[in-house]
Amino acid sequence: MRFLLQNPTFAMACEQFDQAADLLELPQNLRERTKWPKRLVAVAVPVRMDSGEVVVFNGYRVQHHLSLGPTKGGIRYAPSVDMGEVSALAMWMSWKCALMQLPYGGAKGGVACDPEKLSRRECEALTRRYTQELISFIGSRSDIPAPDLGTNEQVMAWMMDTYSTHAGYAVPEIVTGKPVRIGGSLGRREATGRGVAFLVNQAAALCKLSSPLRVIVQGFGNVGCHAALELARTGATIVGVSDRTGAVHRAEGIDVVKLQQHVSVHGGVRGFPGAEPIDEREILLQPCEVLIPAAVERVITKEIAGKLRCHILAEGANGPTTPEADRVLAERPEIFVLPDILCNAGGVVVSYFEWVQDLQSFFWSEREVYDALYRILAQALSAILKRARKQNLSLRMAALMIGIERVAEAKKMRGLFP
Ligand code: GLU
Repeated sequence: MRFLLQNPTFAMACEQFDQAADLLELPQNLRERTKWPKRLVAVAVPVRMDSGEVVVFNGYRVQHHLSLGPTKGGIRYAPSVDMGEVSALAMWMSWKCALMQLPYGGAKGGVACDPEKLSRRECEALTRRYTQELISFIGSRSDIPAPDLGTNEQVMAWMMDTYSTHAGYAVPEIVTGKPVRIGGSLGRREATGRGVAFLVNQAAALCKLSSPLRVIVQGFGNVGCHAALELARTGATIVGVSDRTGAVHRAEGIDVVKLQQHVSVHGGVRGFPGAEPIDEREILLQPCEVLIPAAVERVITKEIAGKLRCHILAEGANGPTTPEADRVLAERPEIFVLPDILCNAGGVVVSYFEWVQDLQSFFWSEREVYDALYRILAQALSAILKRARKQNLSLRMAALMIGIERVAEAKKMRGLFP
């Protein structure tokens, strides 16, 4: 499996793990067992395109560990997807689920493709064939997929339908992030973004920042959009938003609802009439109280980290900050980092609620979902702050150590077979 280290995102996840494992003084045997993914699955996904041509896409699913229950994690459709990226994301899911005390190991999957270029029919064919290829590897008691970058409720509905057709009856608990009508949970769609907003407000109170908070969001997908909407609703001013089409800025505040409408018509934030265009790199460096990277990995590099003008860095994305940037941030204690495995955990926590509701065929109100979500996030935040203070750690190291320690303890308790 060492070939995975050629991927920079996997190398980054391993570097973080090694640092945390050193601080935990994990014995070598346990360290190796805890670090490496349990299973890597690669599948060929042939799809008949609208042109009549057949294209074979590469699909992946990585299950990181099975010591605490089924594995859990999203499915990503993006050109960057490969075994290394998916393995890194699966590893982060393991620490995230353990930090949130969910009875899950981490997983991640994906198909290397550009979802923007697929027609709806092509996307459905790709999803159904990918699911079919994974039938013997996923299951509601073994591995439960969910949405991630480039996938959505519709993709989950097709996955659920393909799996259920195979079983001969409806199996809603096979995926989470489904439409509510077919067994999804109220609040799941907004959960990651609202979790980010909740933690930002908690962090702002801890840092005694005065309102209104000025917020900049990188990425206006499911996470960035709902974080911005919820922060605006709770009194913040959204001063900048960027996505892959461009970036827009307005010091007096952007109307996020209007921006959302613009994006649904034009496919991106570019050209939004309610704000000024700005360079995509520059936007990260504008003065604000809160910067939310909510797009892809490794965007906060050491150069950017040195120039940030925010007070709270809220990691809506998975792995947005490189270890080199973390070393720069360690010298800038005025910046409060909400680490990814805490900050974006709202999604998987409500996925867990969805799975529980499906297994019991008993559904919760939105109020019940959010009360339980905010309680879990607040508990995790206070556990991280306590650990960080006690051992003089960054919040990221404290979060990783809590997650990794719980997985390592479970492995130790269960013992090594045979
Ligand atoms: N893809 C999301 C994440 O990175 C959600 C995973 C899930 O709900 O299982 O946390």
